[in-house]
Amino acid sequence: MSVSEASLRAELLATSRAMGSAGLNVGTSGNASVRWHGGFLVTPSGLAADACTSGDMAWIDASDRAHGPLAPSSEWMLHRDIYAARPDAGAILHAHSPFATALACQRIDIPPFHYMIARFGGHDIRCSRYATFGTQALSDAAVAALAGRSACLLANHGMLVFGRDLAHALAQAVEFETLCAQYWHTRQLGDPVLLSTAEMDEVIDRFRDYGRPRELAD
Ligand code: 13P
Ligand code: ZN
Repeated sequence: MSVSEASLRAELLATSRAMGSAGLNVGTSGNASVRWHGGFLVTPSGLAADACTSGDMAWIDASDRAHGPLAPSSEWMLHRDIYAARPDAGAILHAHSPFATALACQRIDIPPFHYMIARFGGHDIRCSRYATFGTQALSDAAVAALAGRSACLLANHGMLVFGRDLAHALAQAVEFETLCAQYWHTRQLGDPVLLSTAEMDEVIDRFRDYGRPRELAD
């Protein structure tokens, strides 16, 4: 195994465990992947992150063949199809995090109640249509809900986020869950005042350079 493969496997396992310590997943819920060698490395199915080793991470190659001692995540098709549809996705995380899942069970799109919605690419964050876990139908529903976005809710299931790499995807997942919690709290007080299309466009514009080193900002 090359050094870079070993370190990517270790990083995937660490990210999967960090999802647990951040309160995003419990037990065997959720999964994580990262692009690798024409395909991707993905967490194994039905095993808690704390019980896994880095050698248990499965590799799905460019021909959809799974390699490794354990079966890959039941959602491997969903990960494959997002990588195919979204060249900007370097790593994908799926969680049954408490607040995102509560909203997903209401099957609601999250409206522009807060400017941070724009962090995920648009004026709202969609909830996909419902499909059984681990199916091609769920993958199709997720890819549709992610159009122009880097996160979505999965109806009666949980959430999905992708980032340019594992560290970015994890940071985005924590931000997304925080936003879901804020929306949940806001709704306890009544209907929020939503930002207008023009206000959200302005935020999207400002986010283009937000957090980039000064020499890269135009
Ligand atoms: P896996 O353990 O097969 O990844 O399944 C967990 C899950 O969240 C399915 O949607
Ligand atoms: Zn799931």
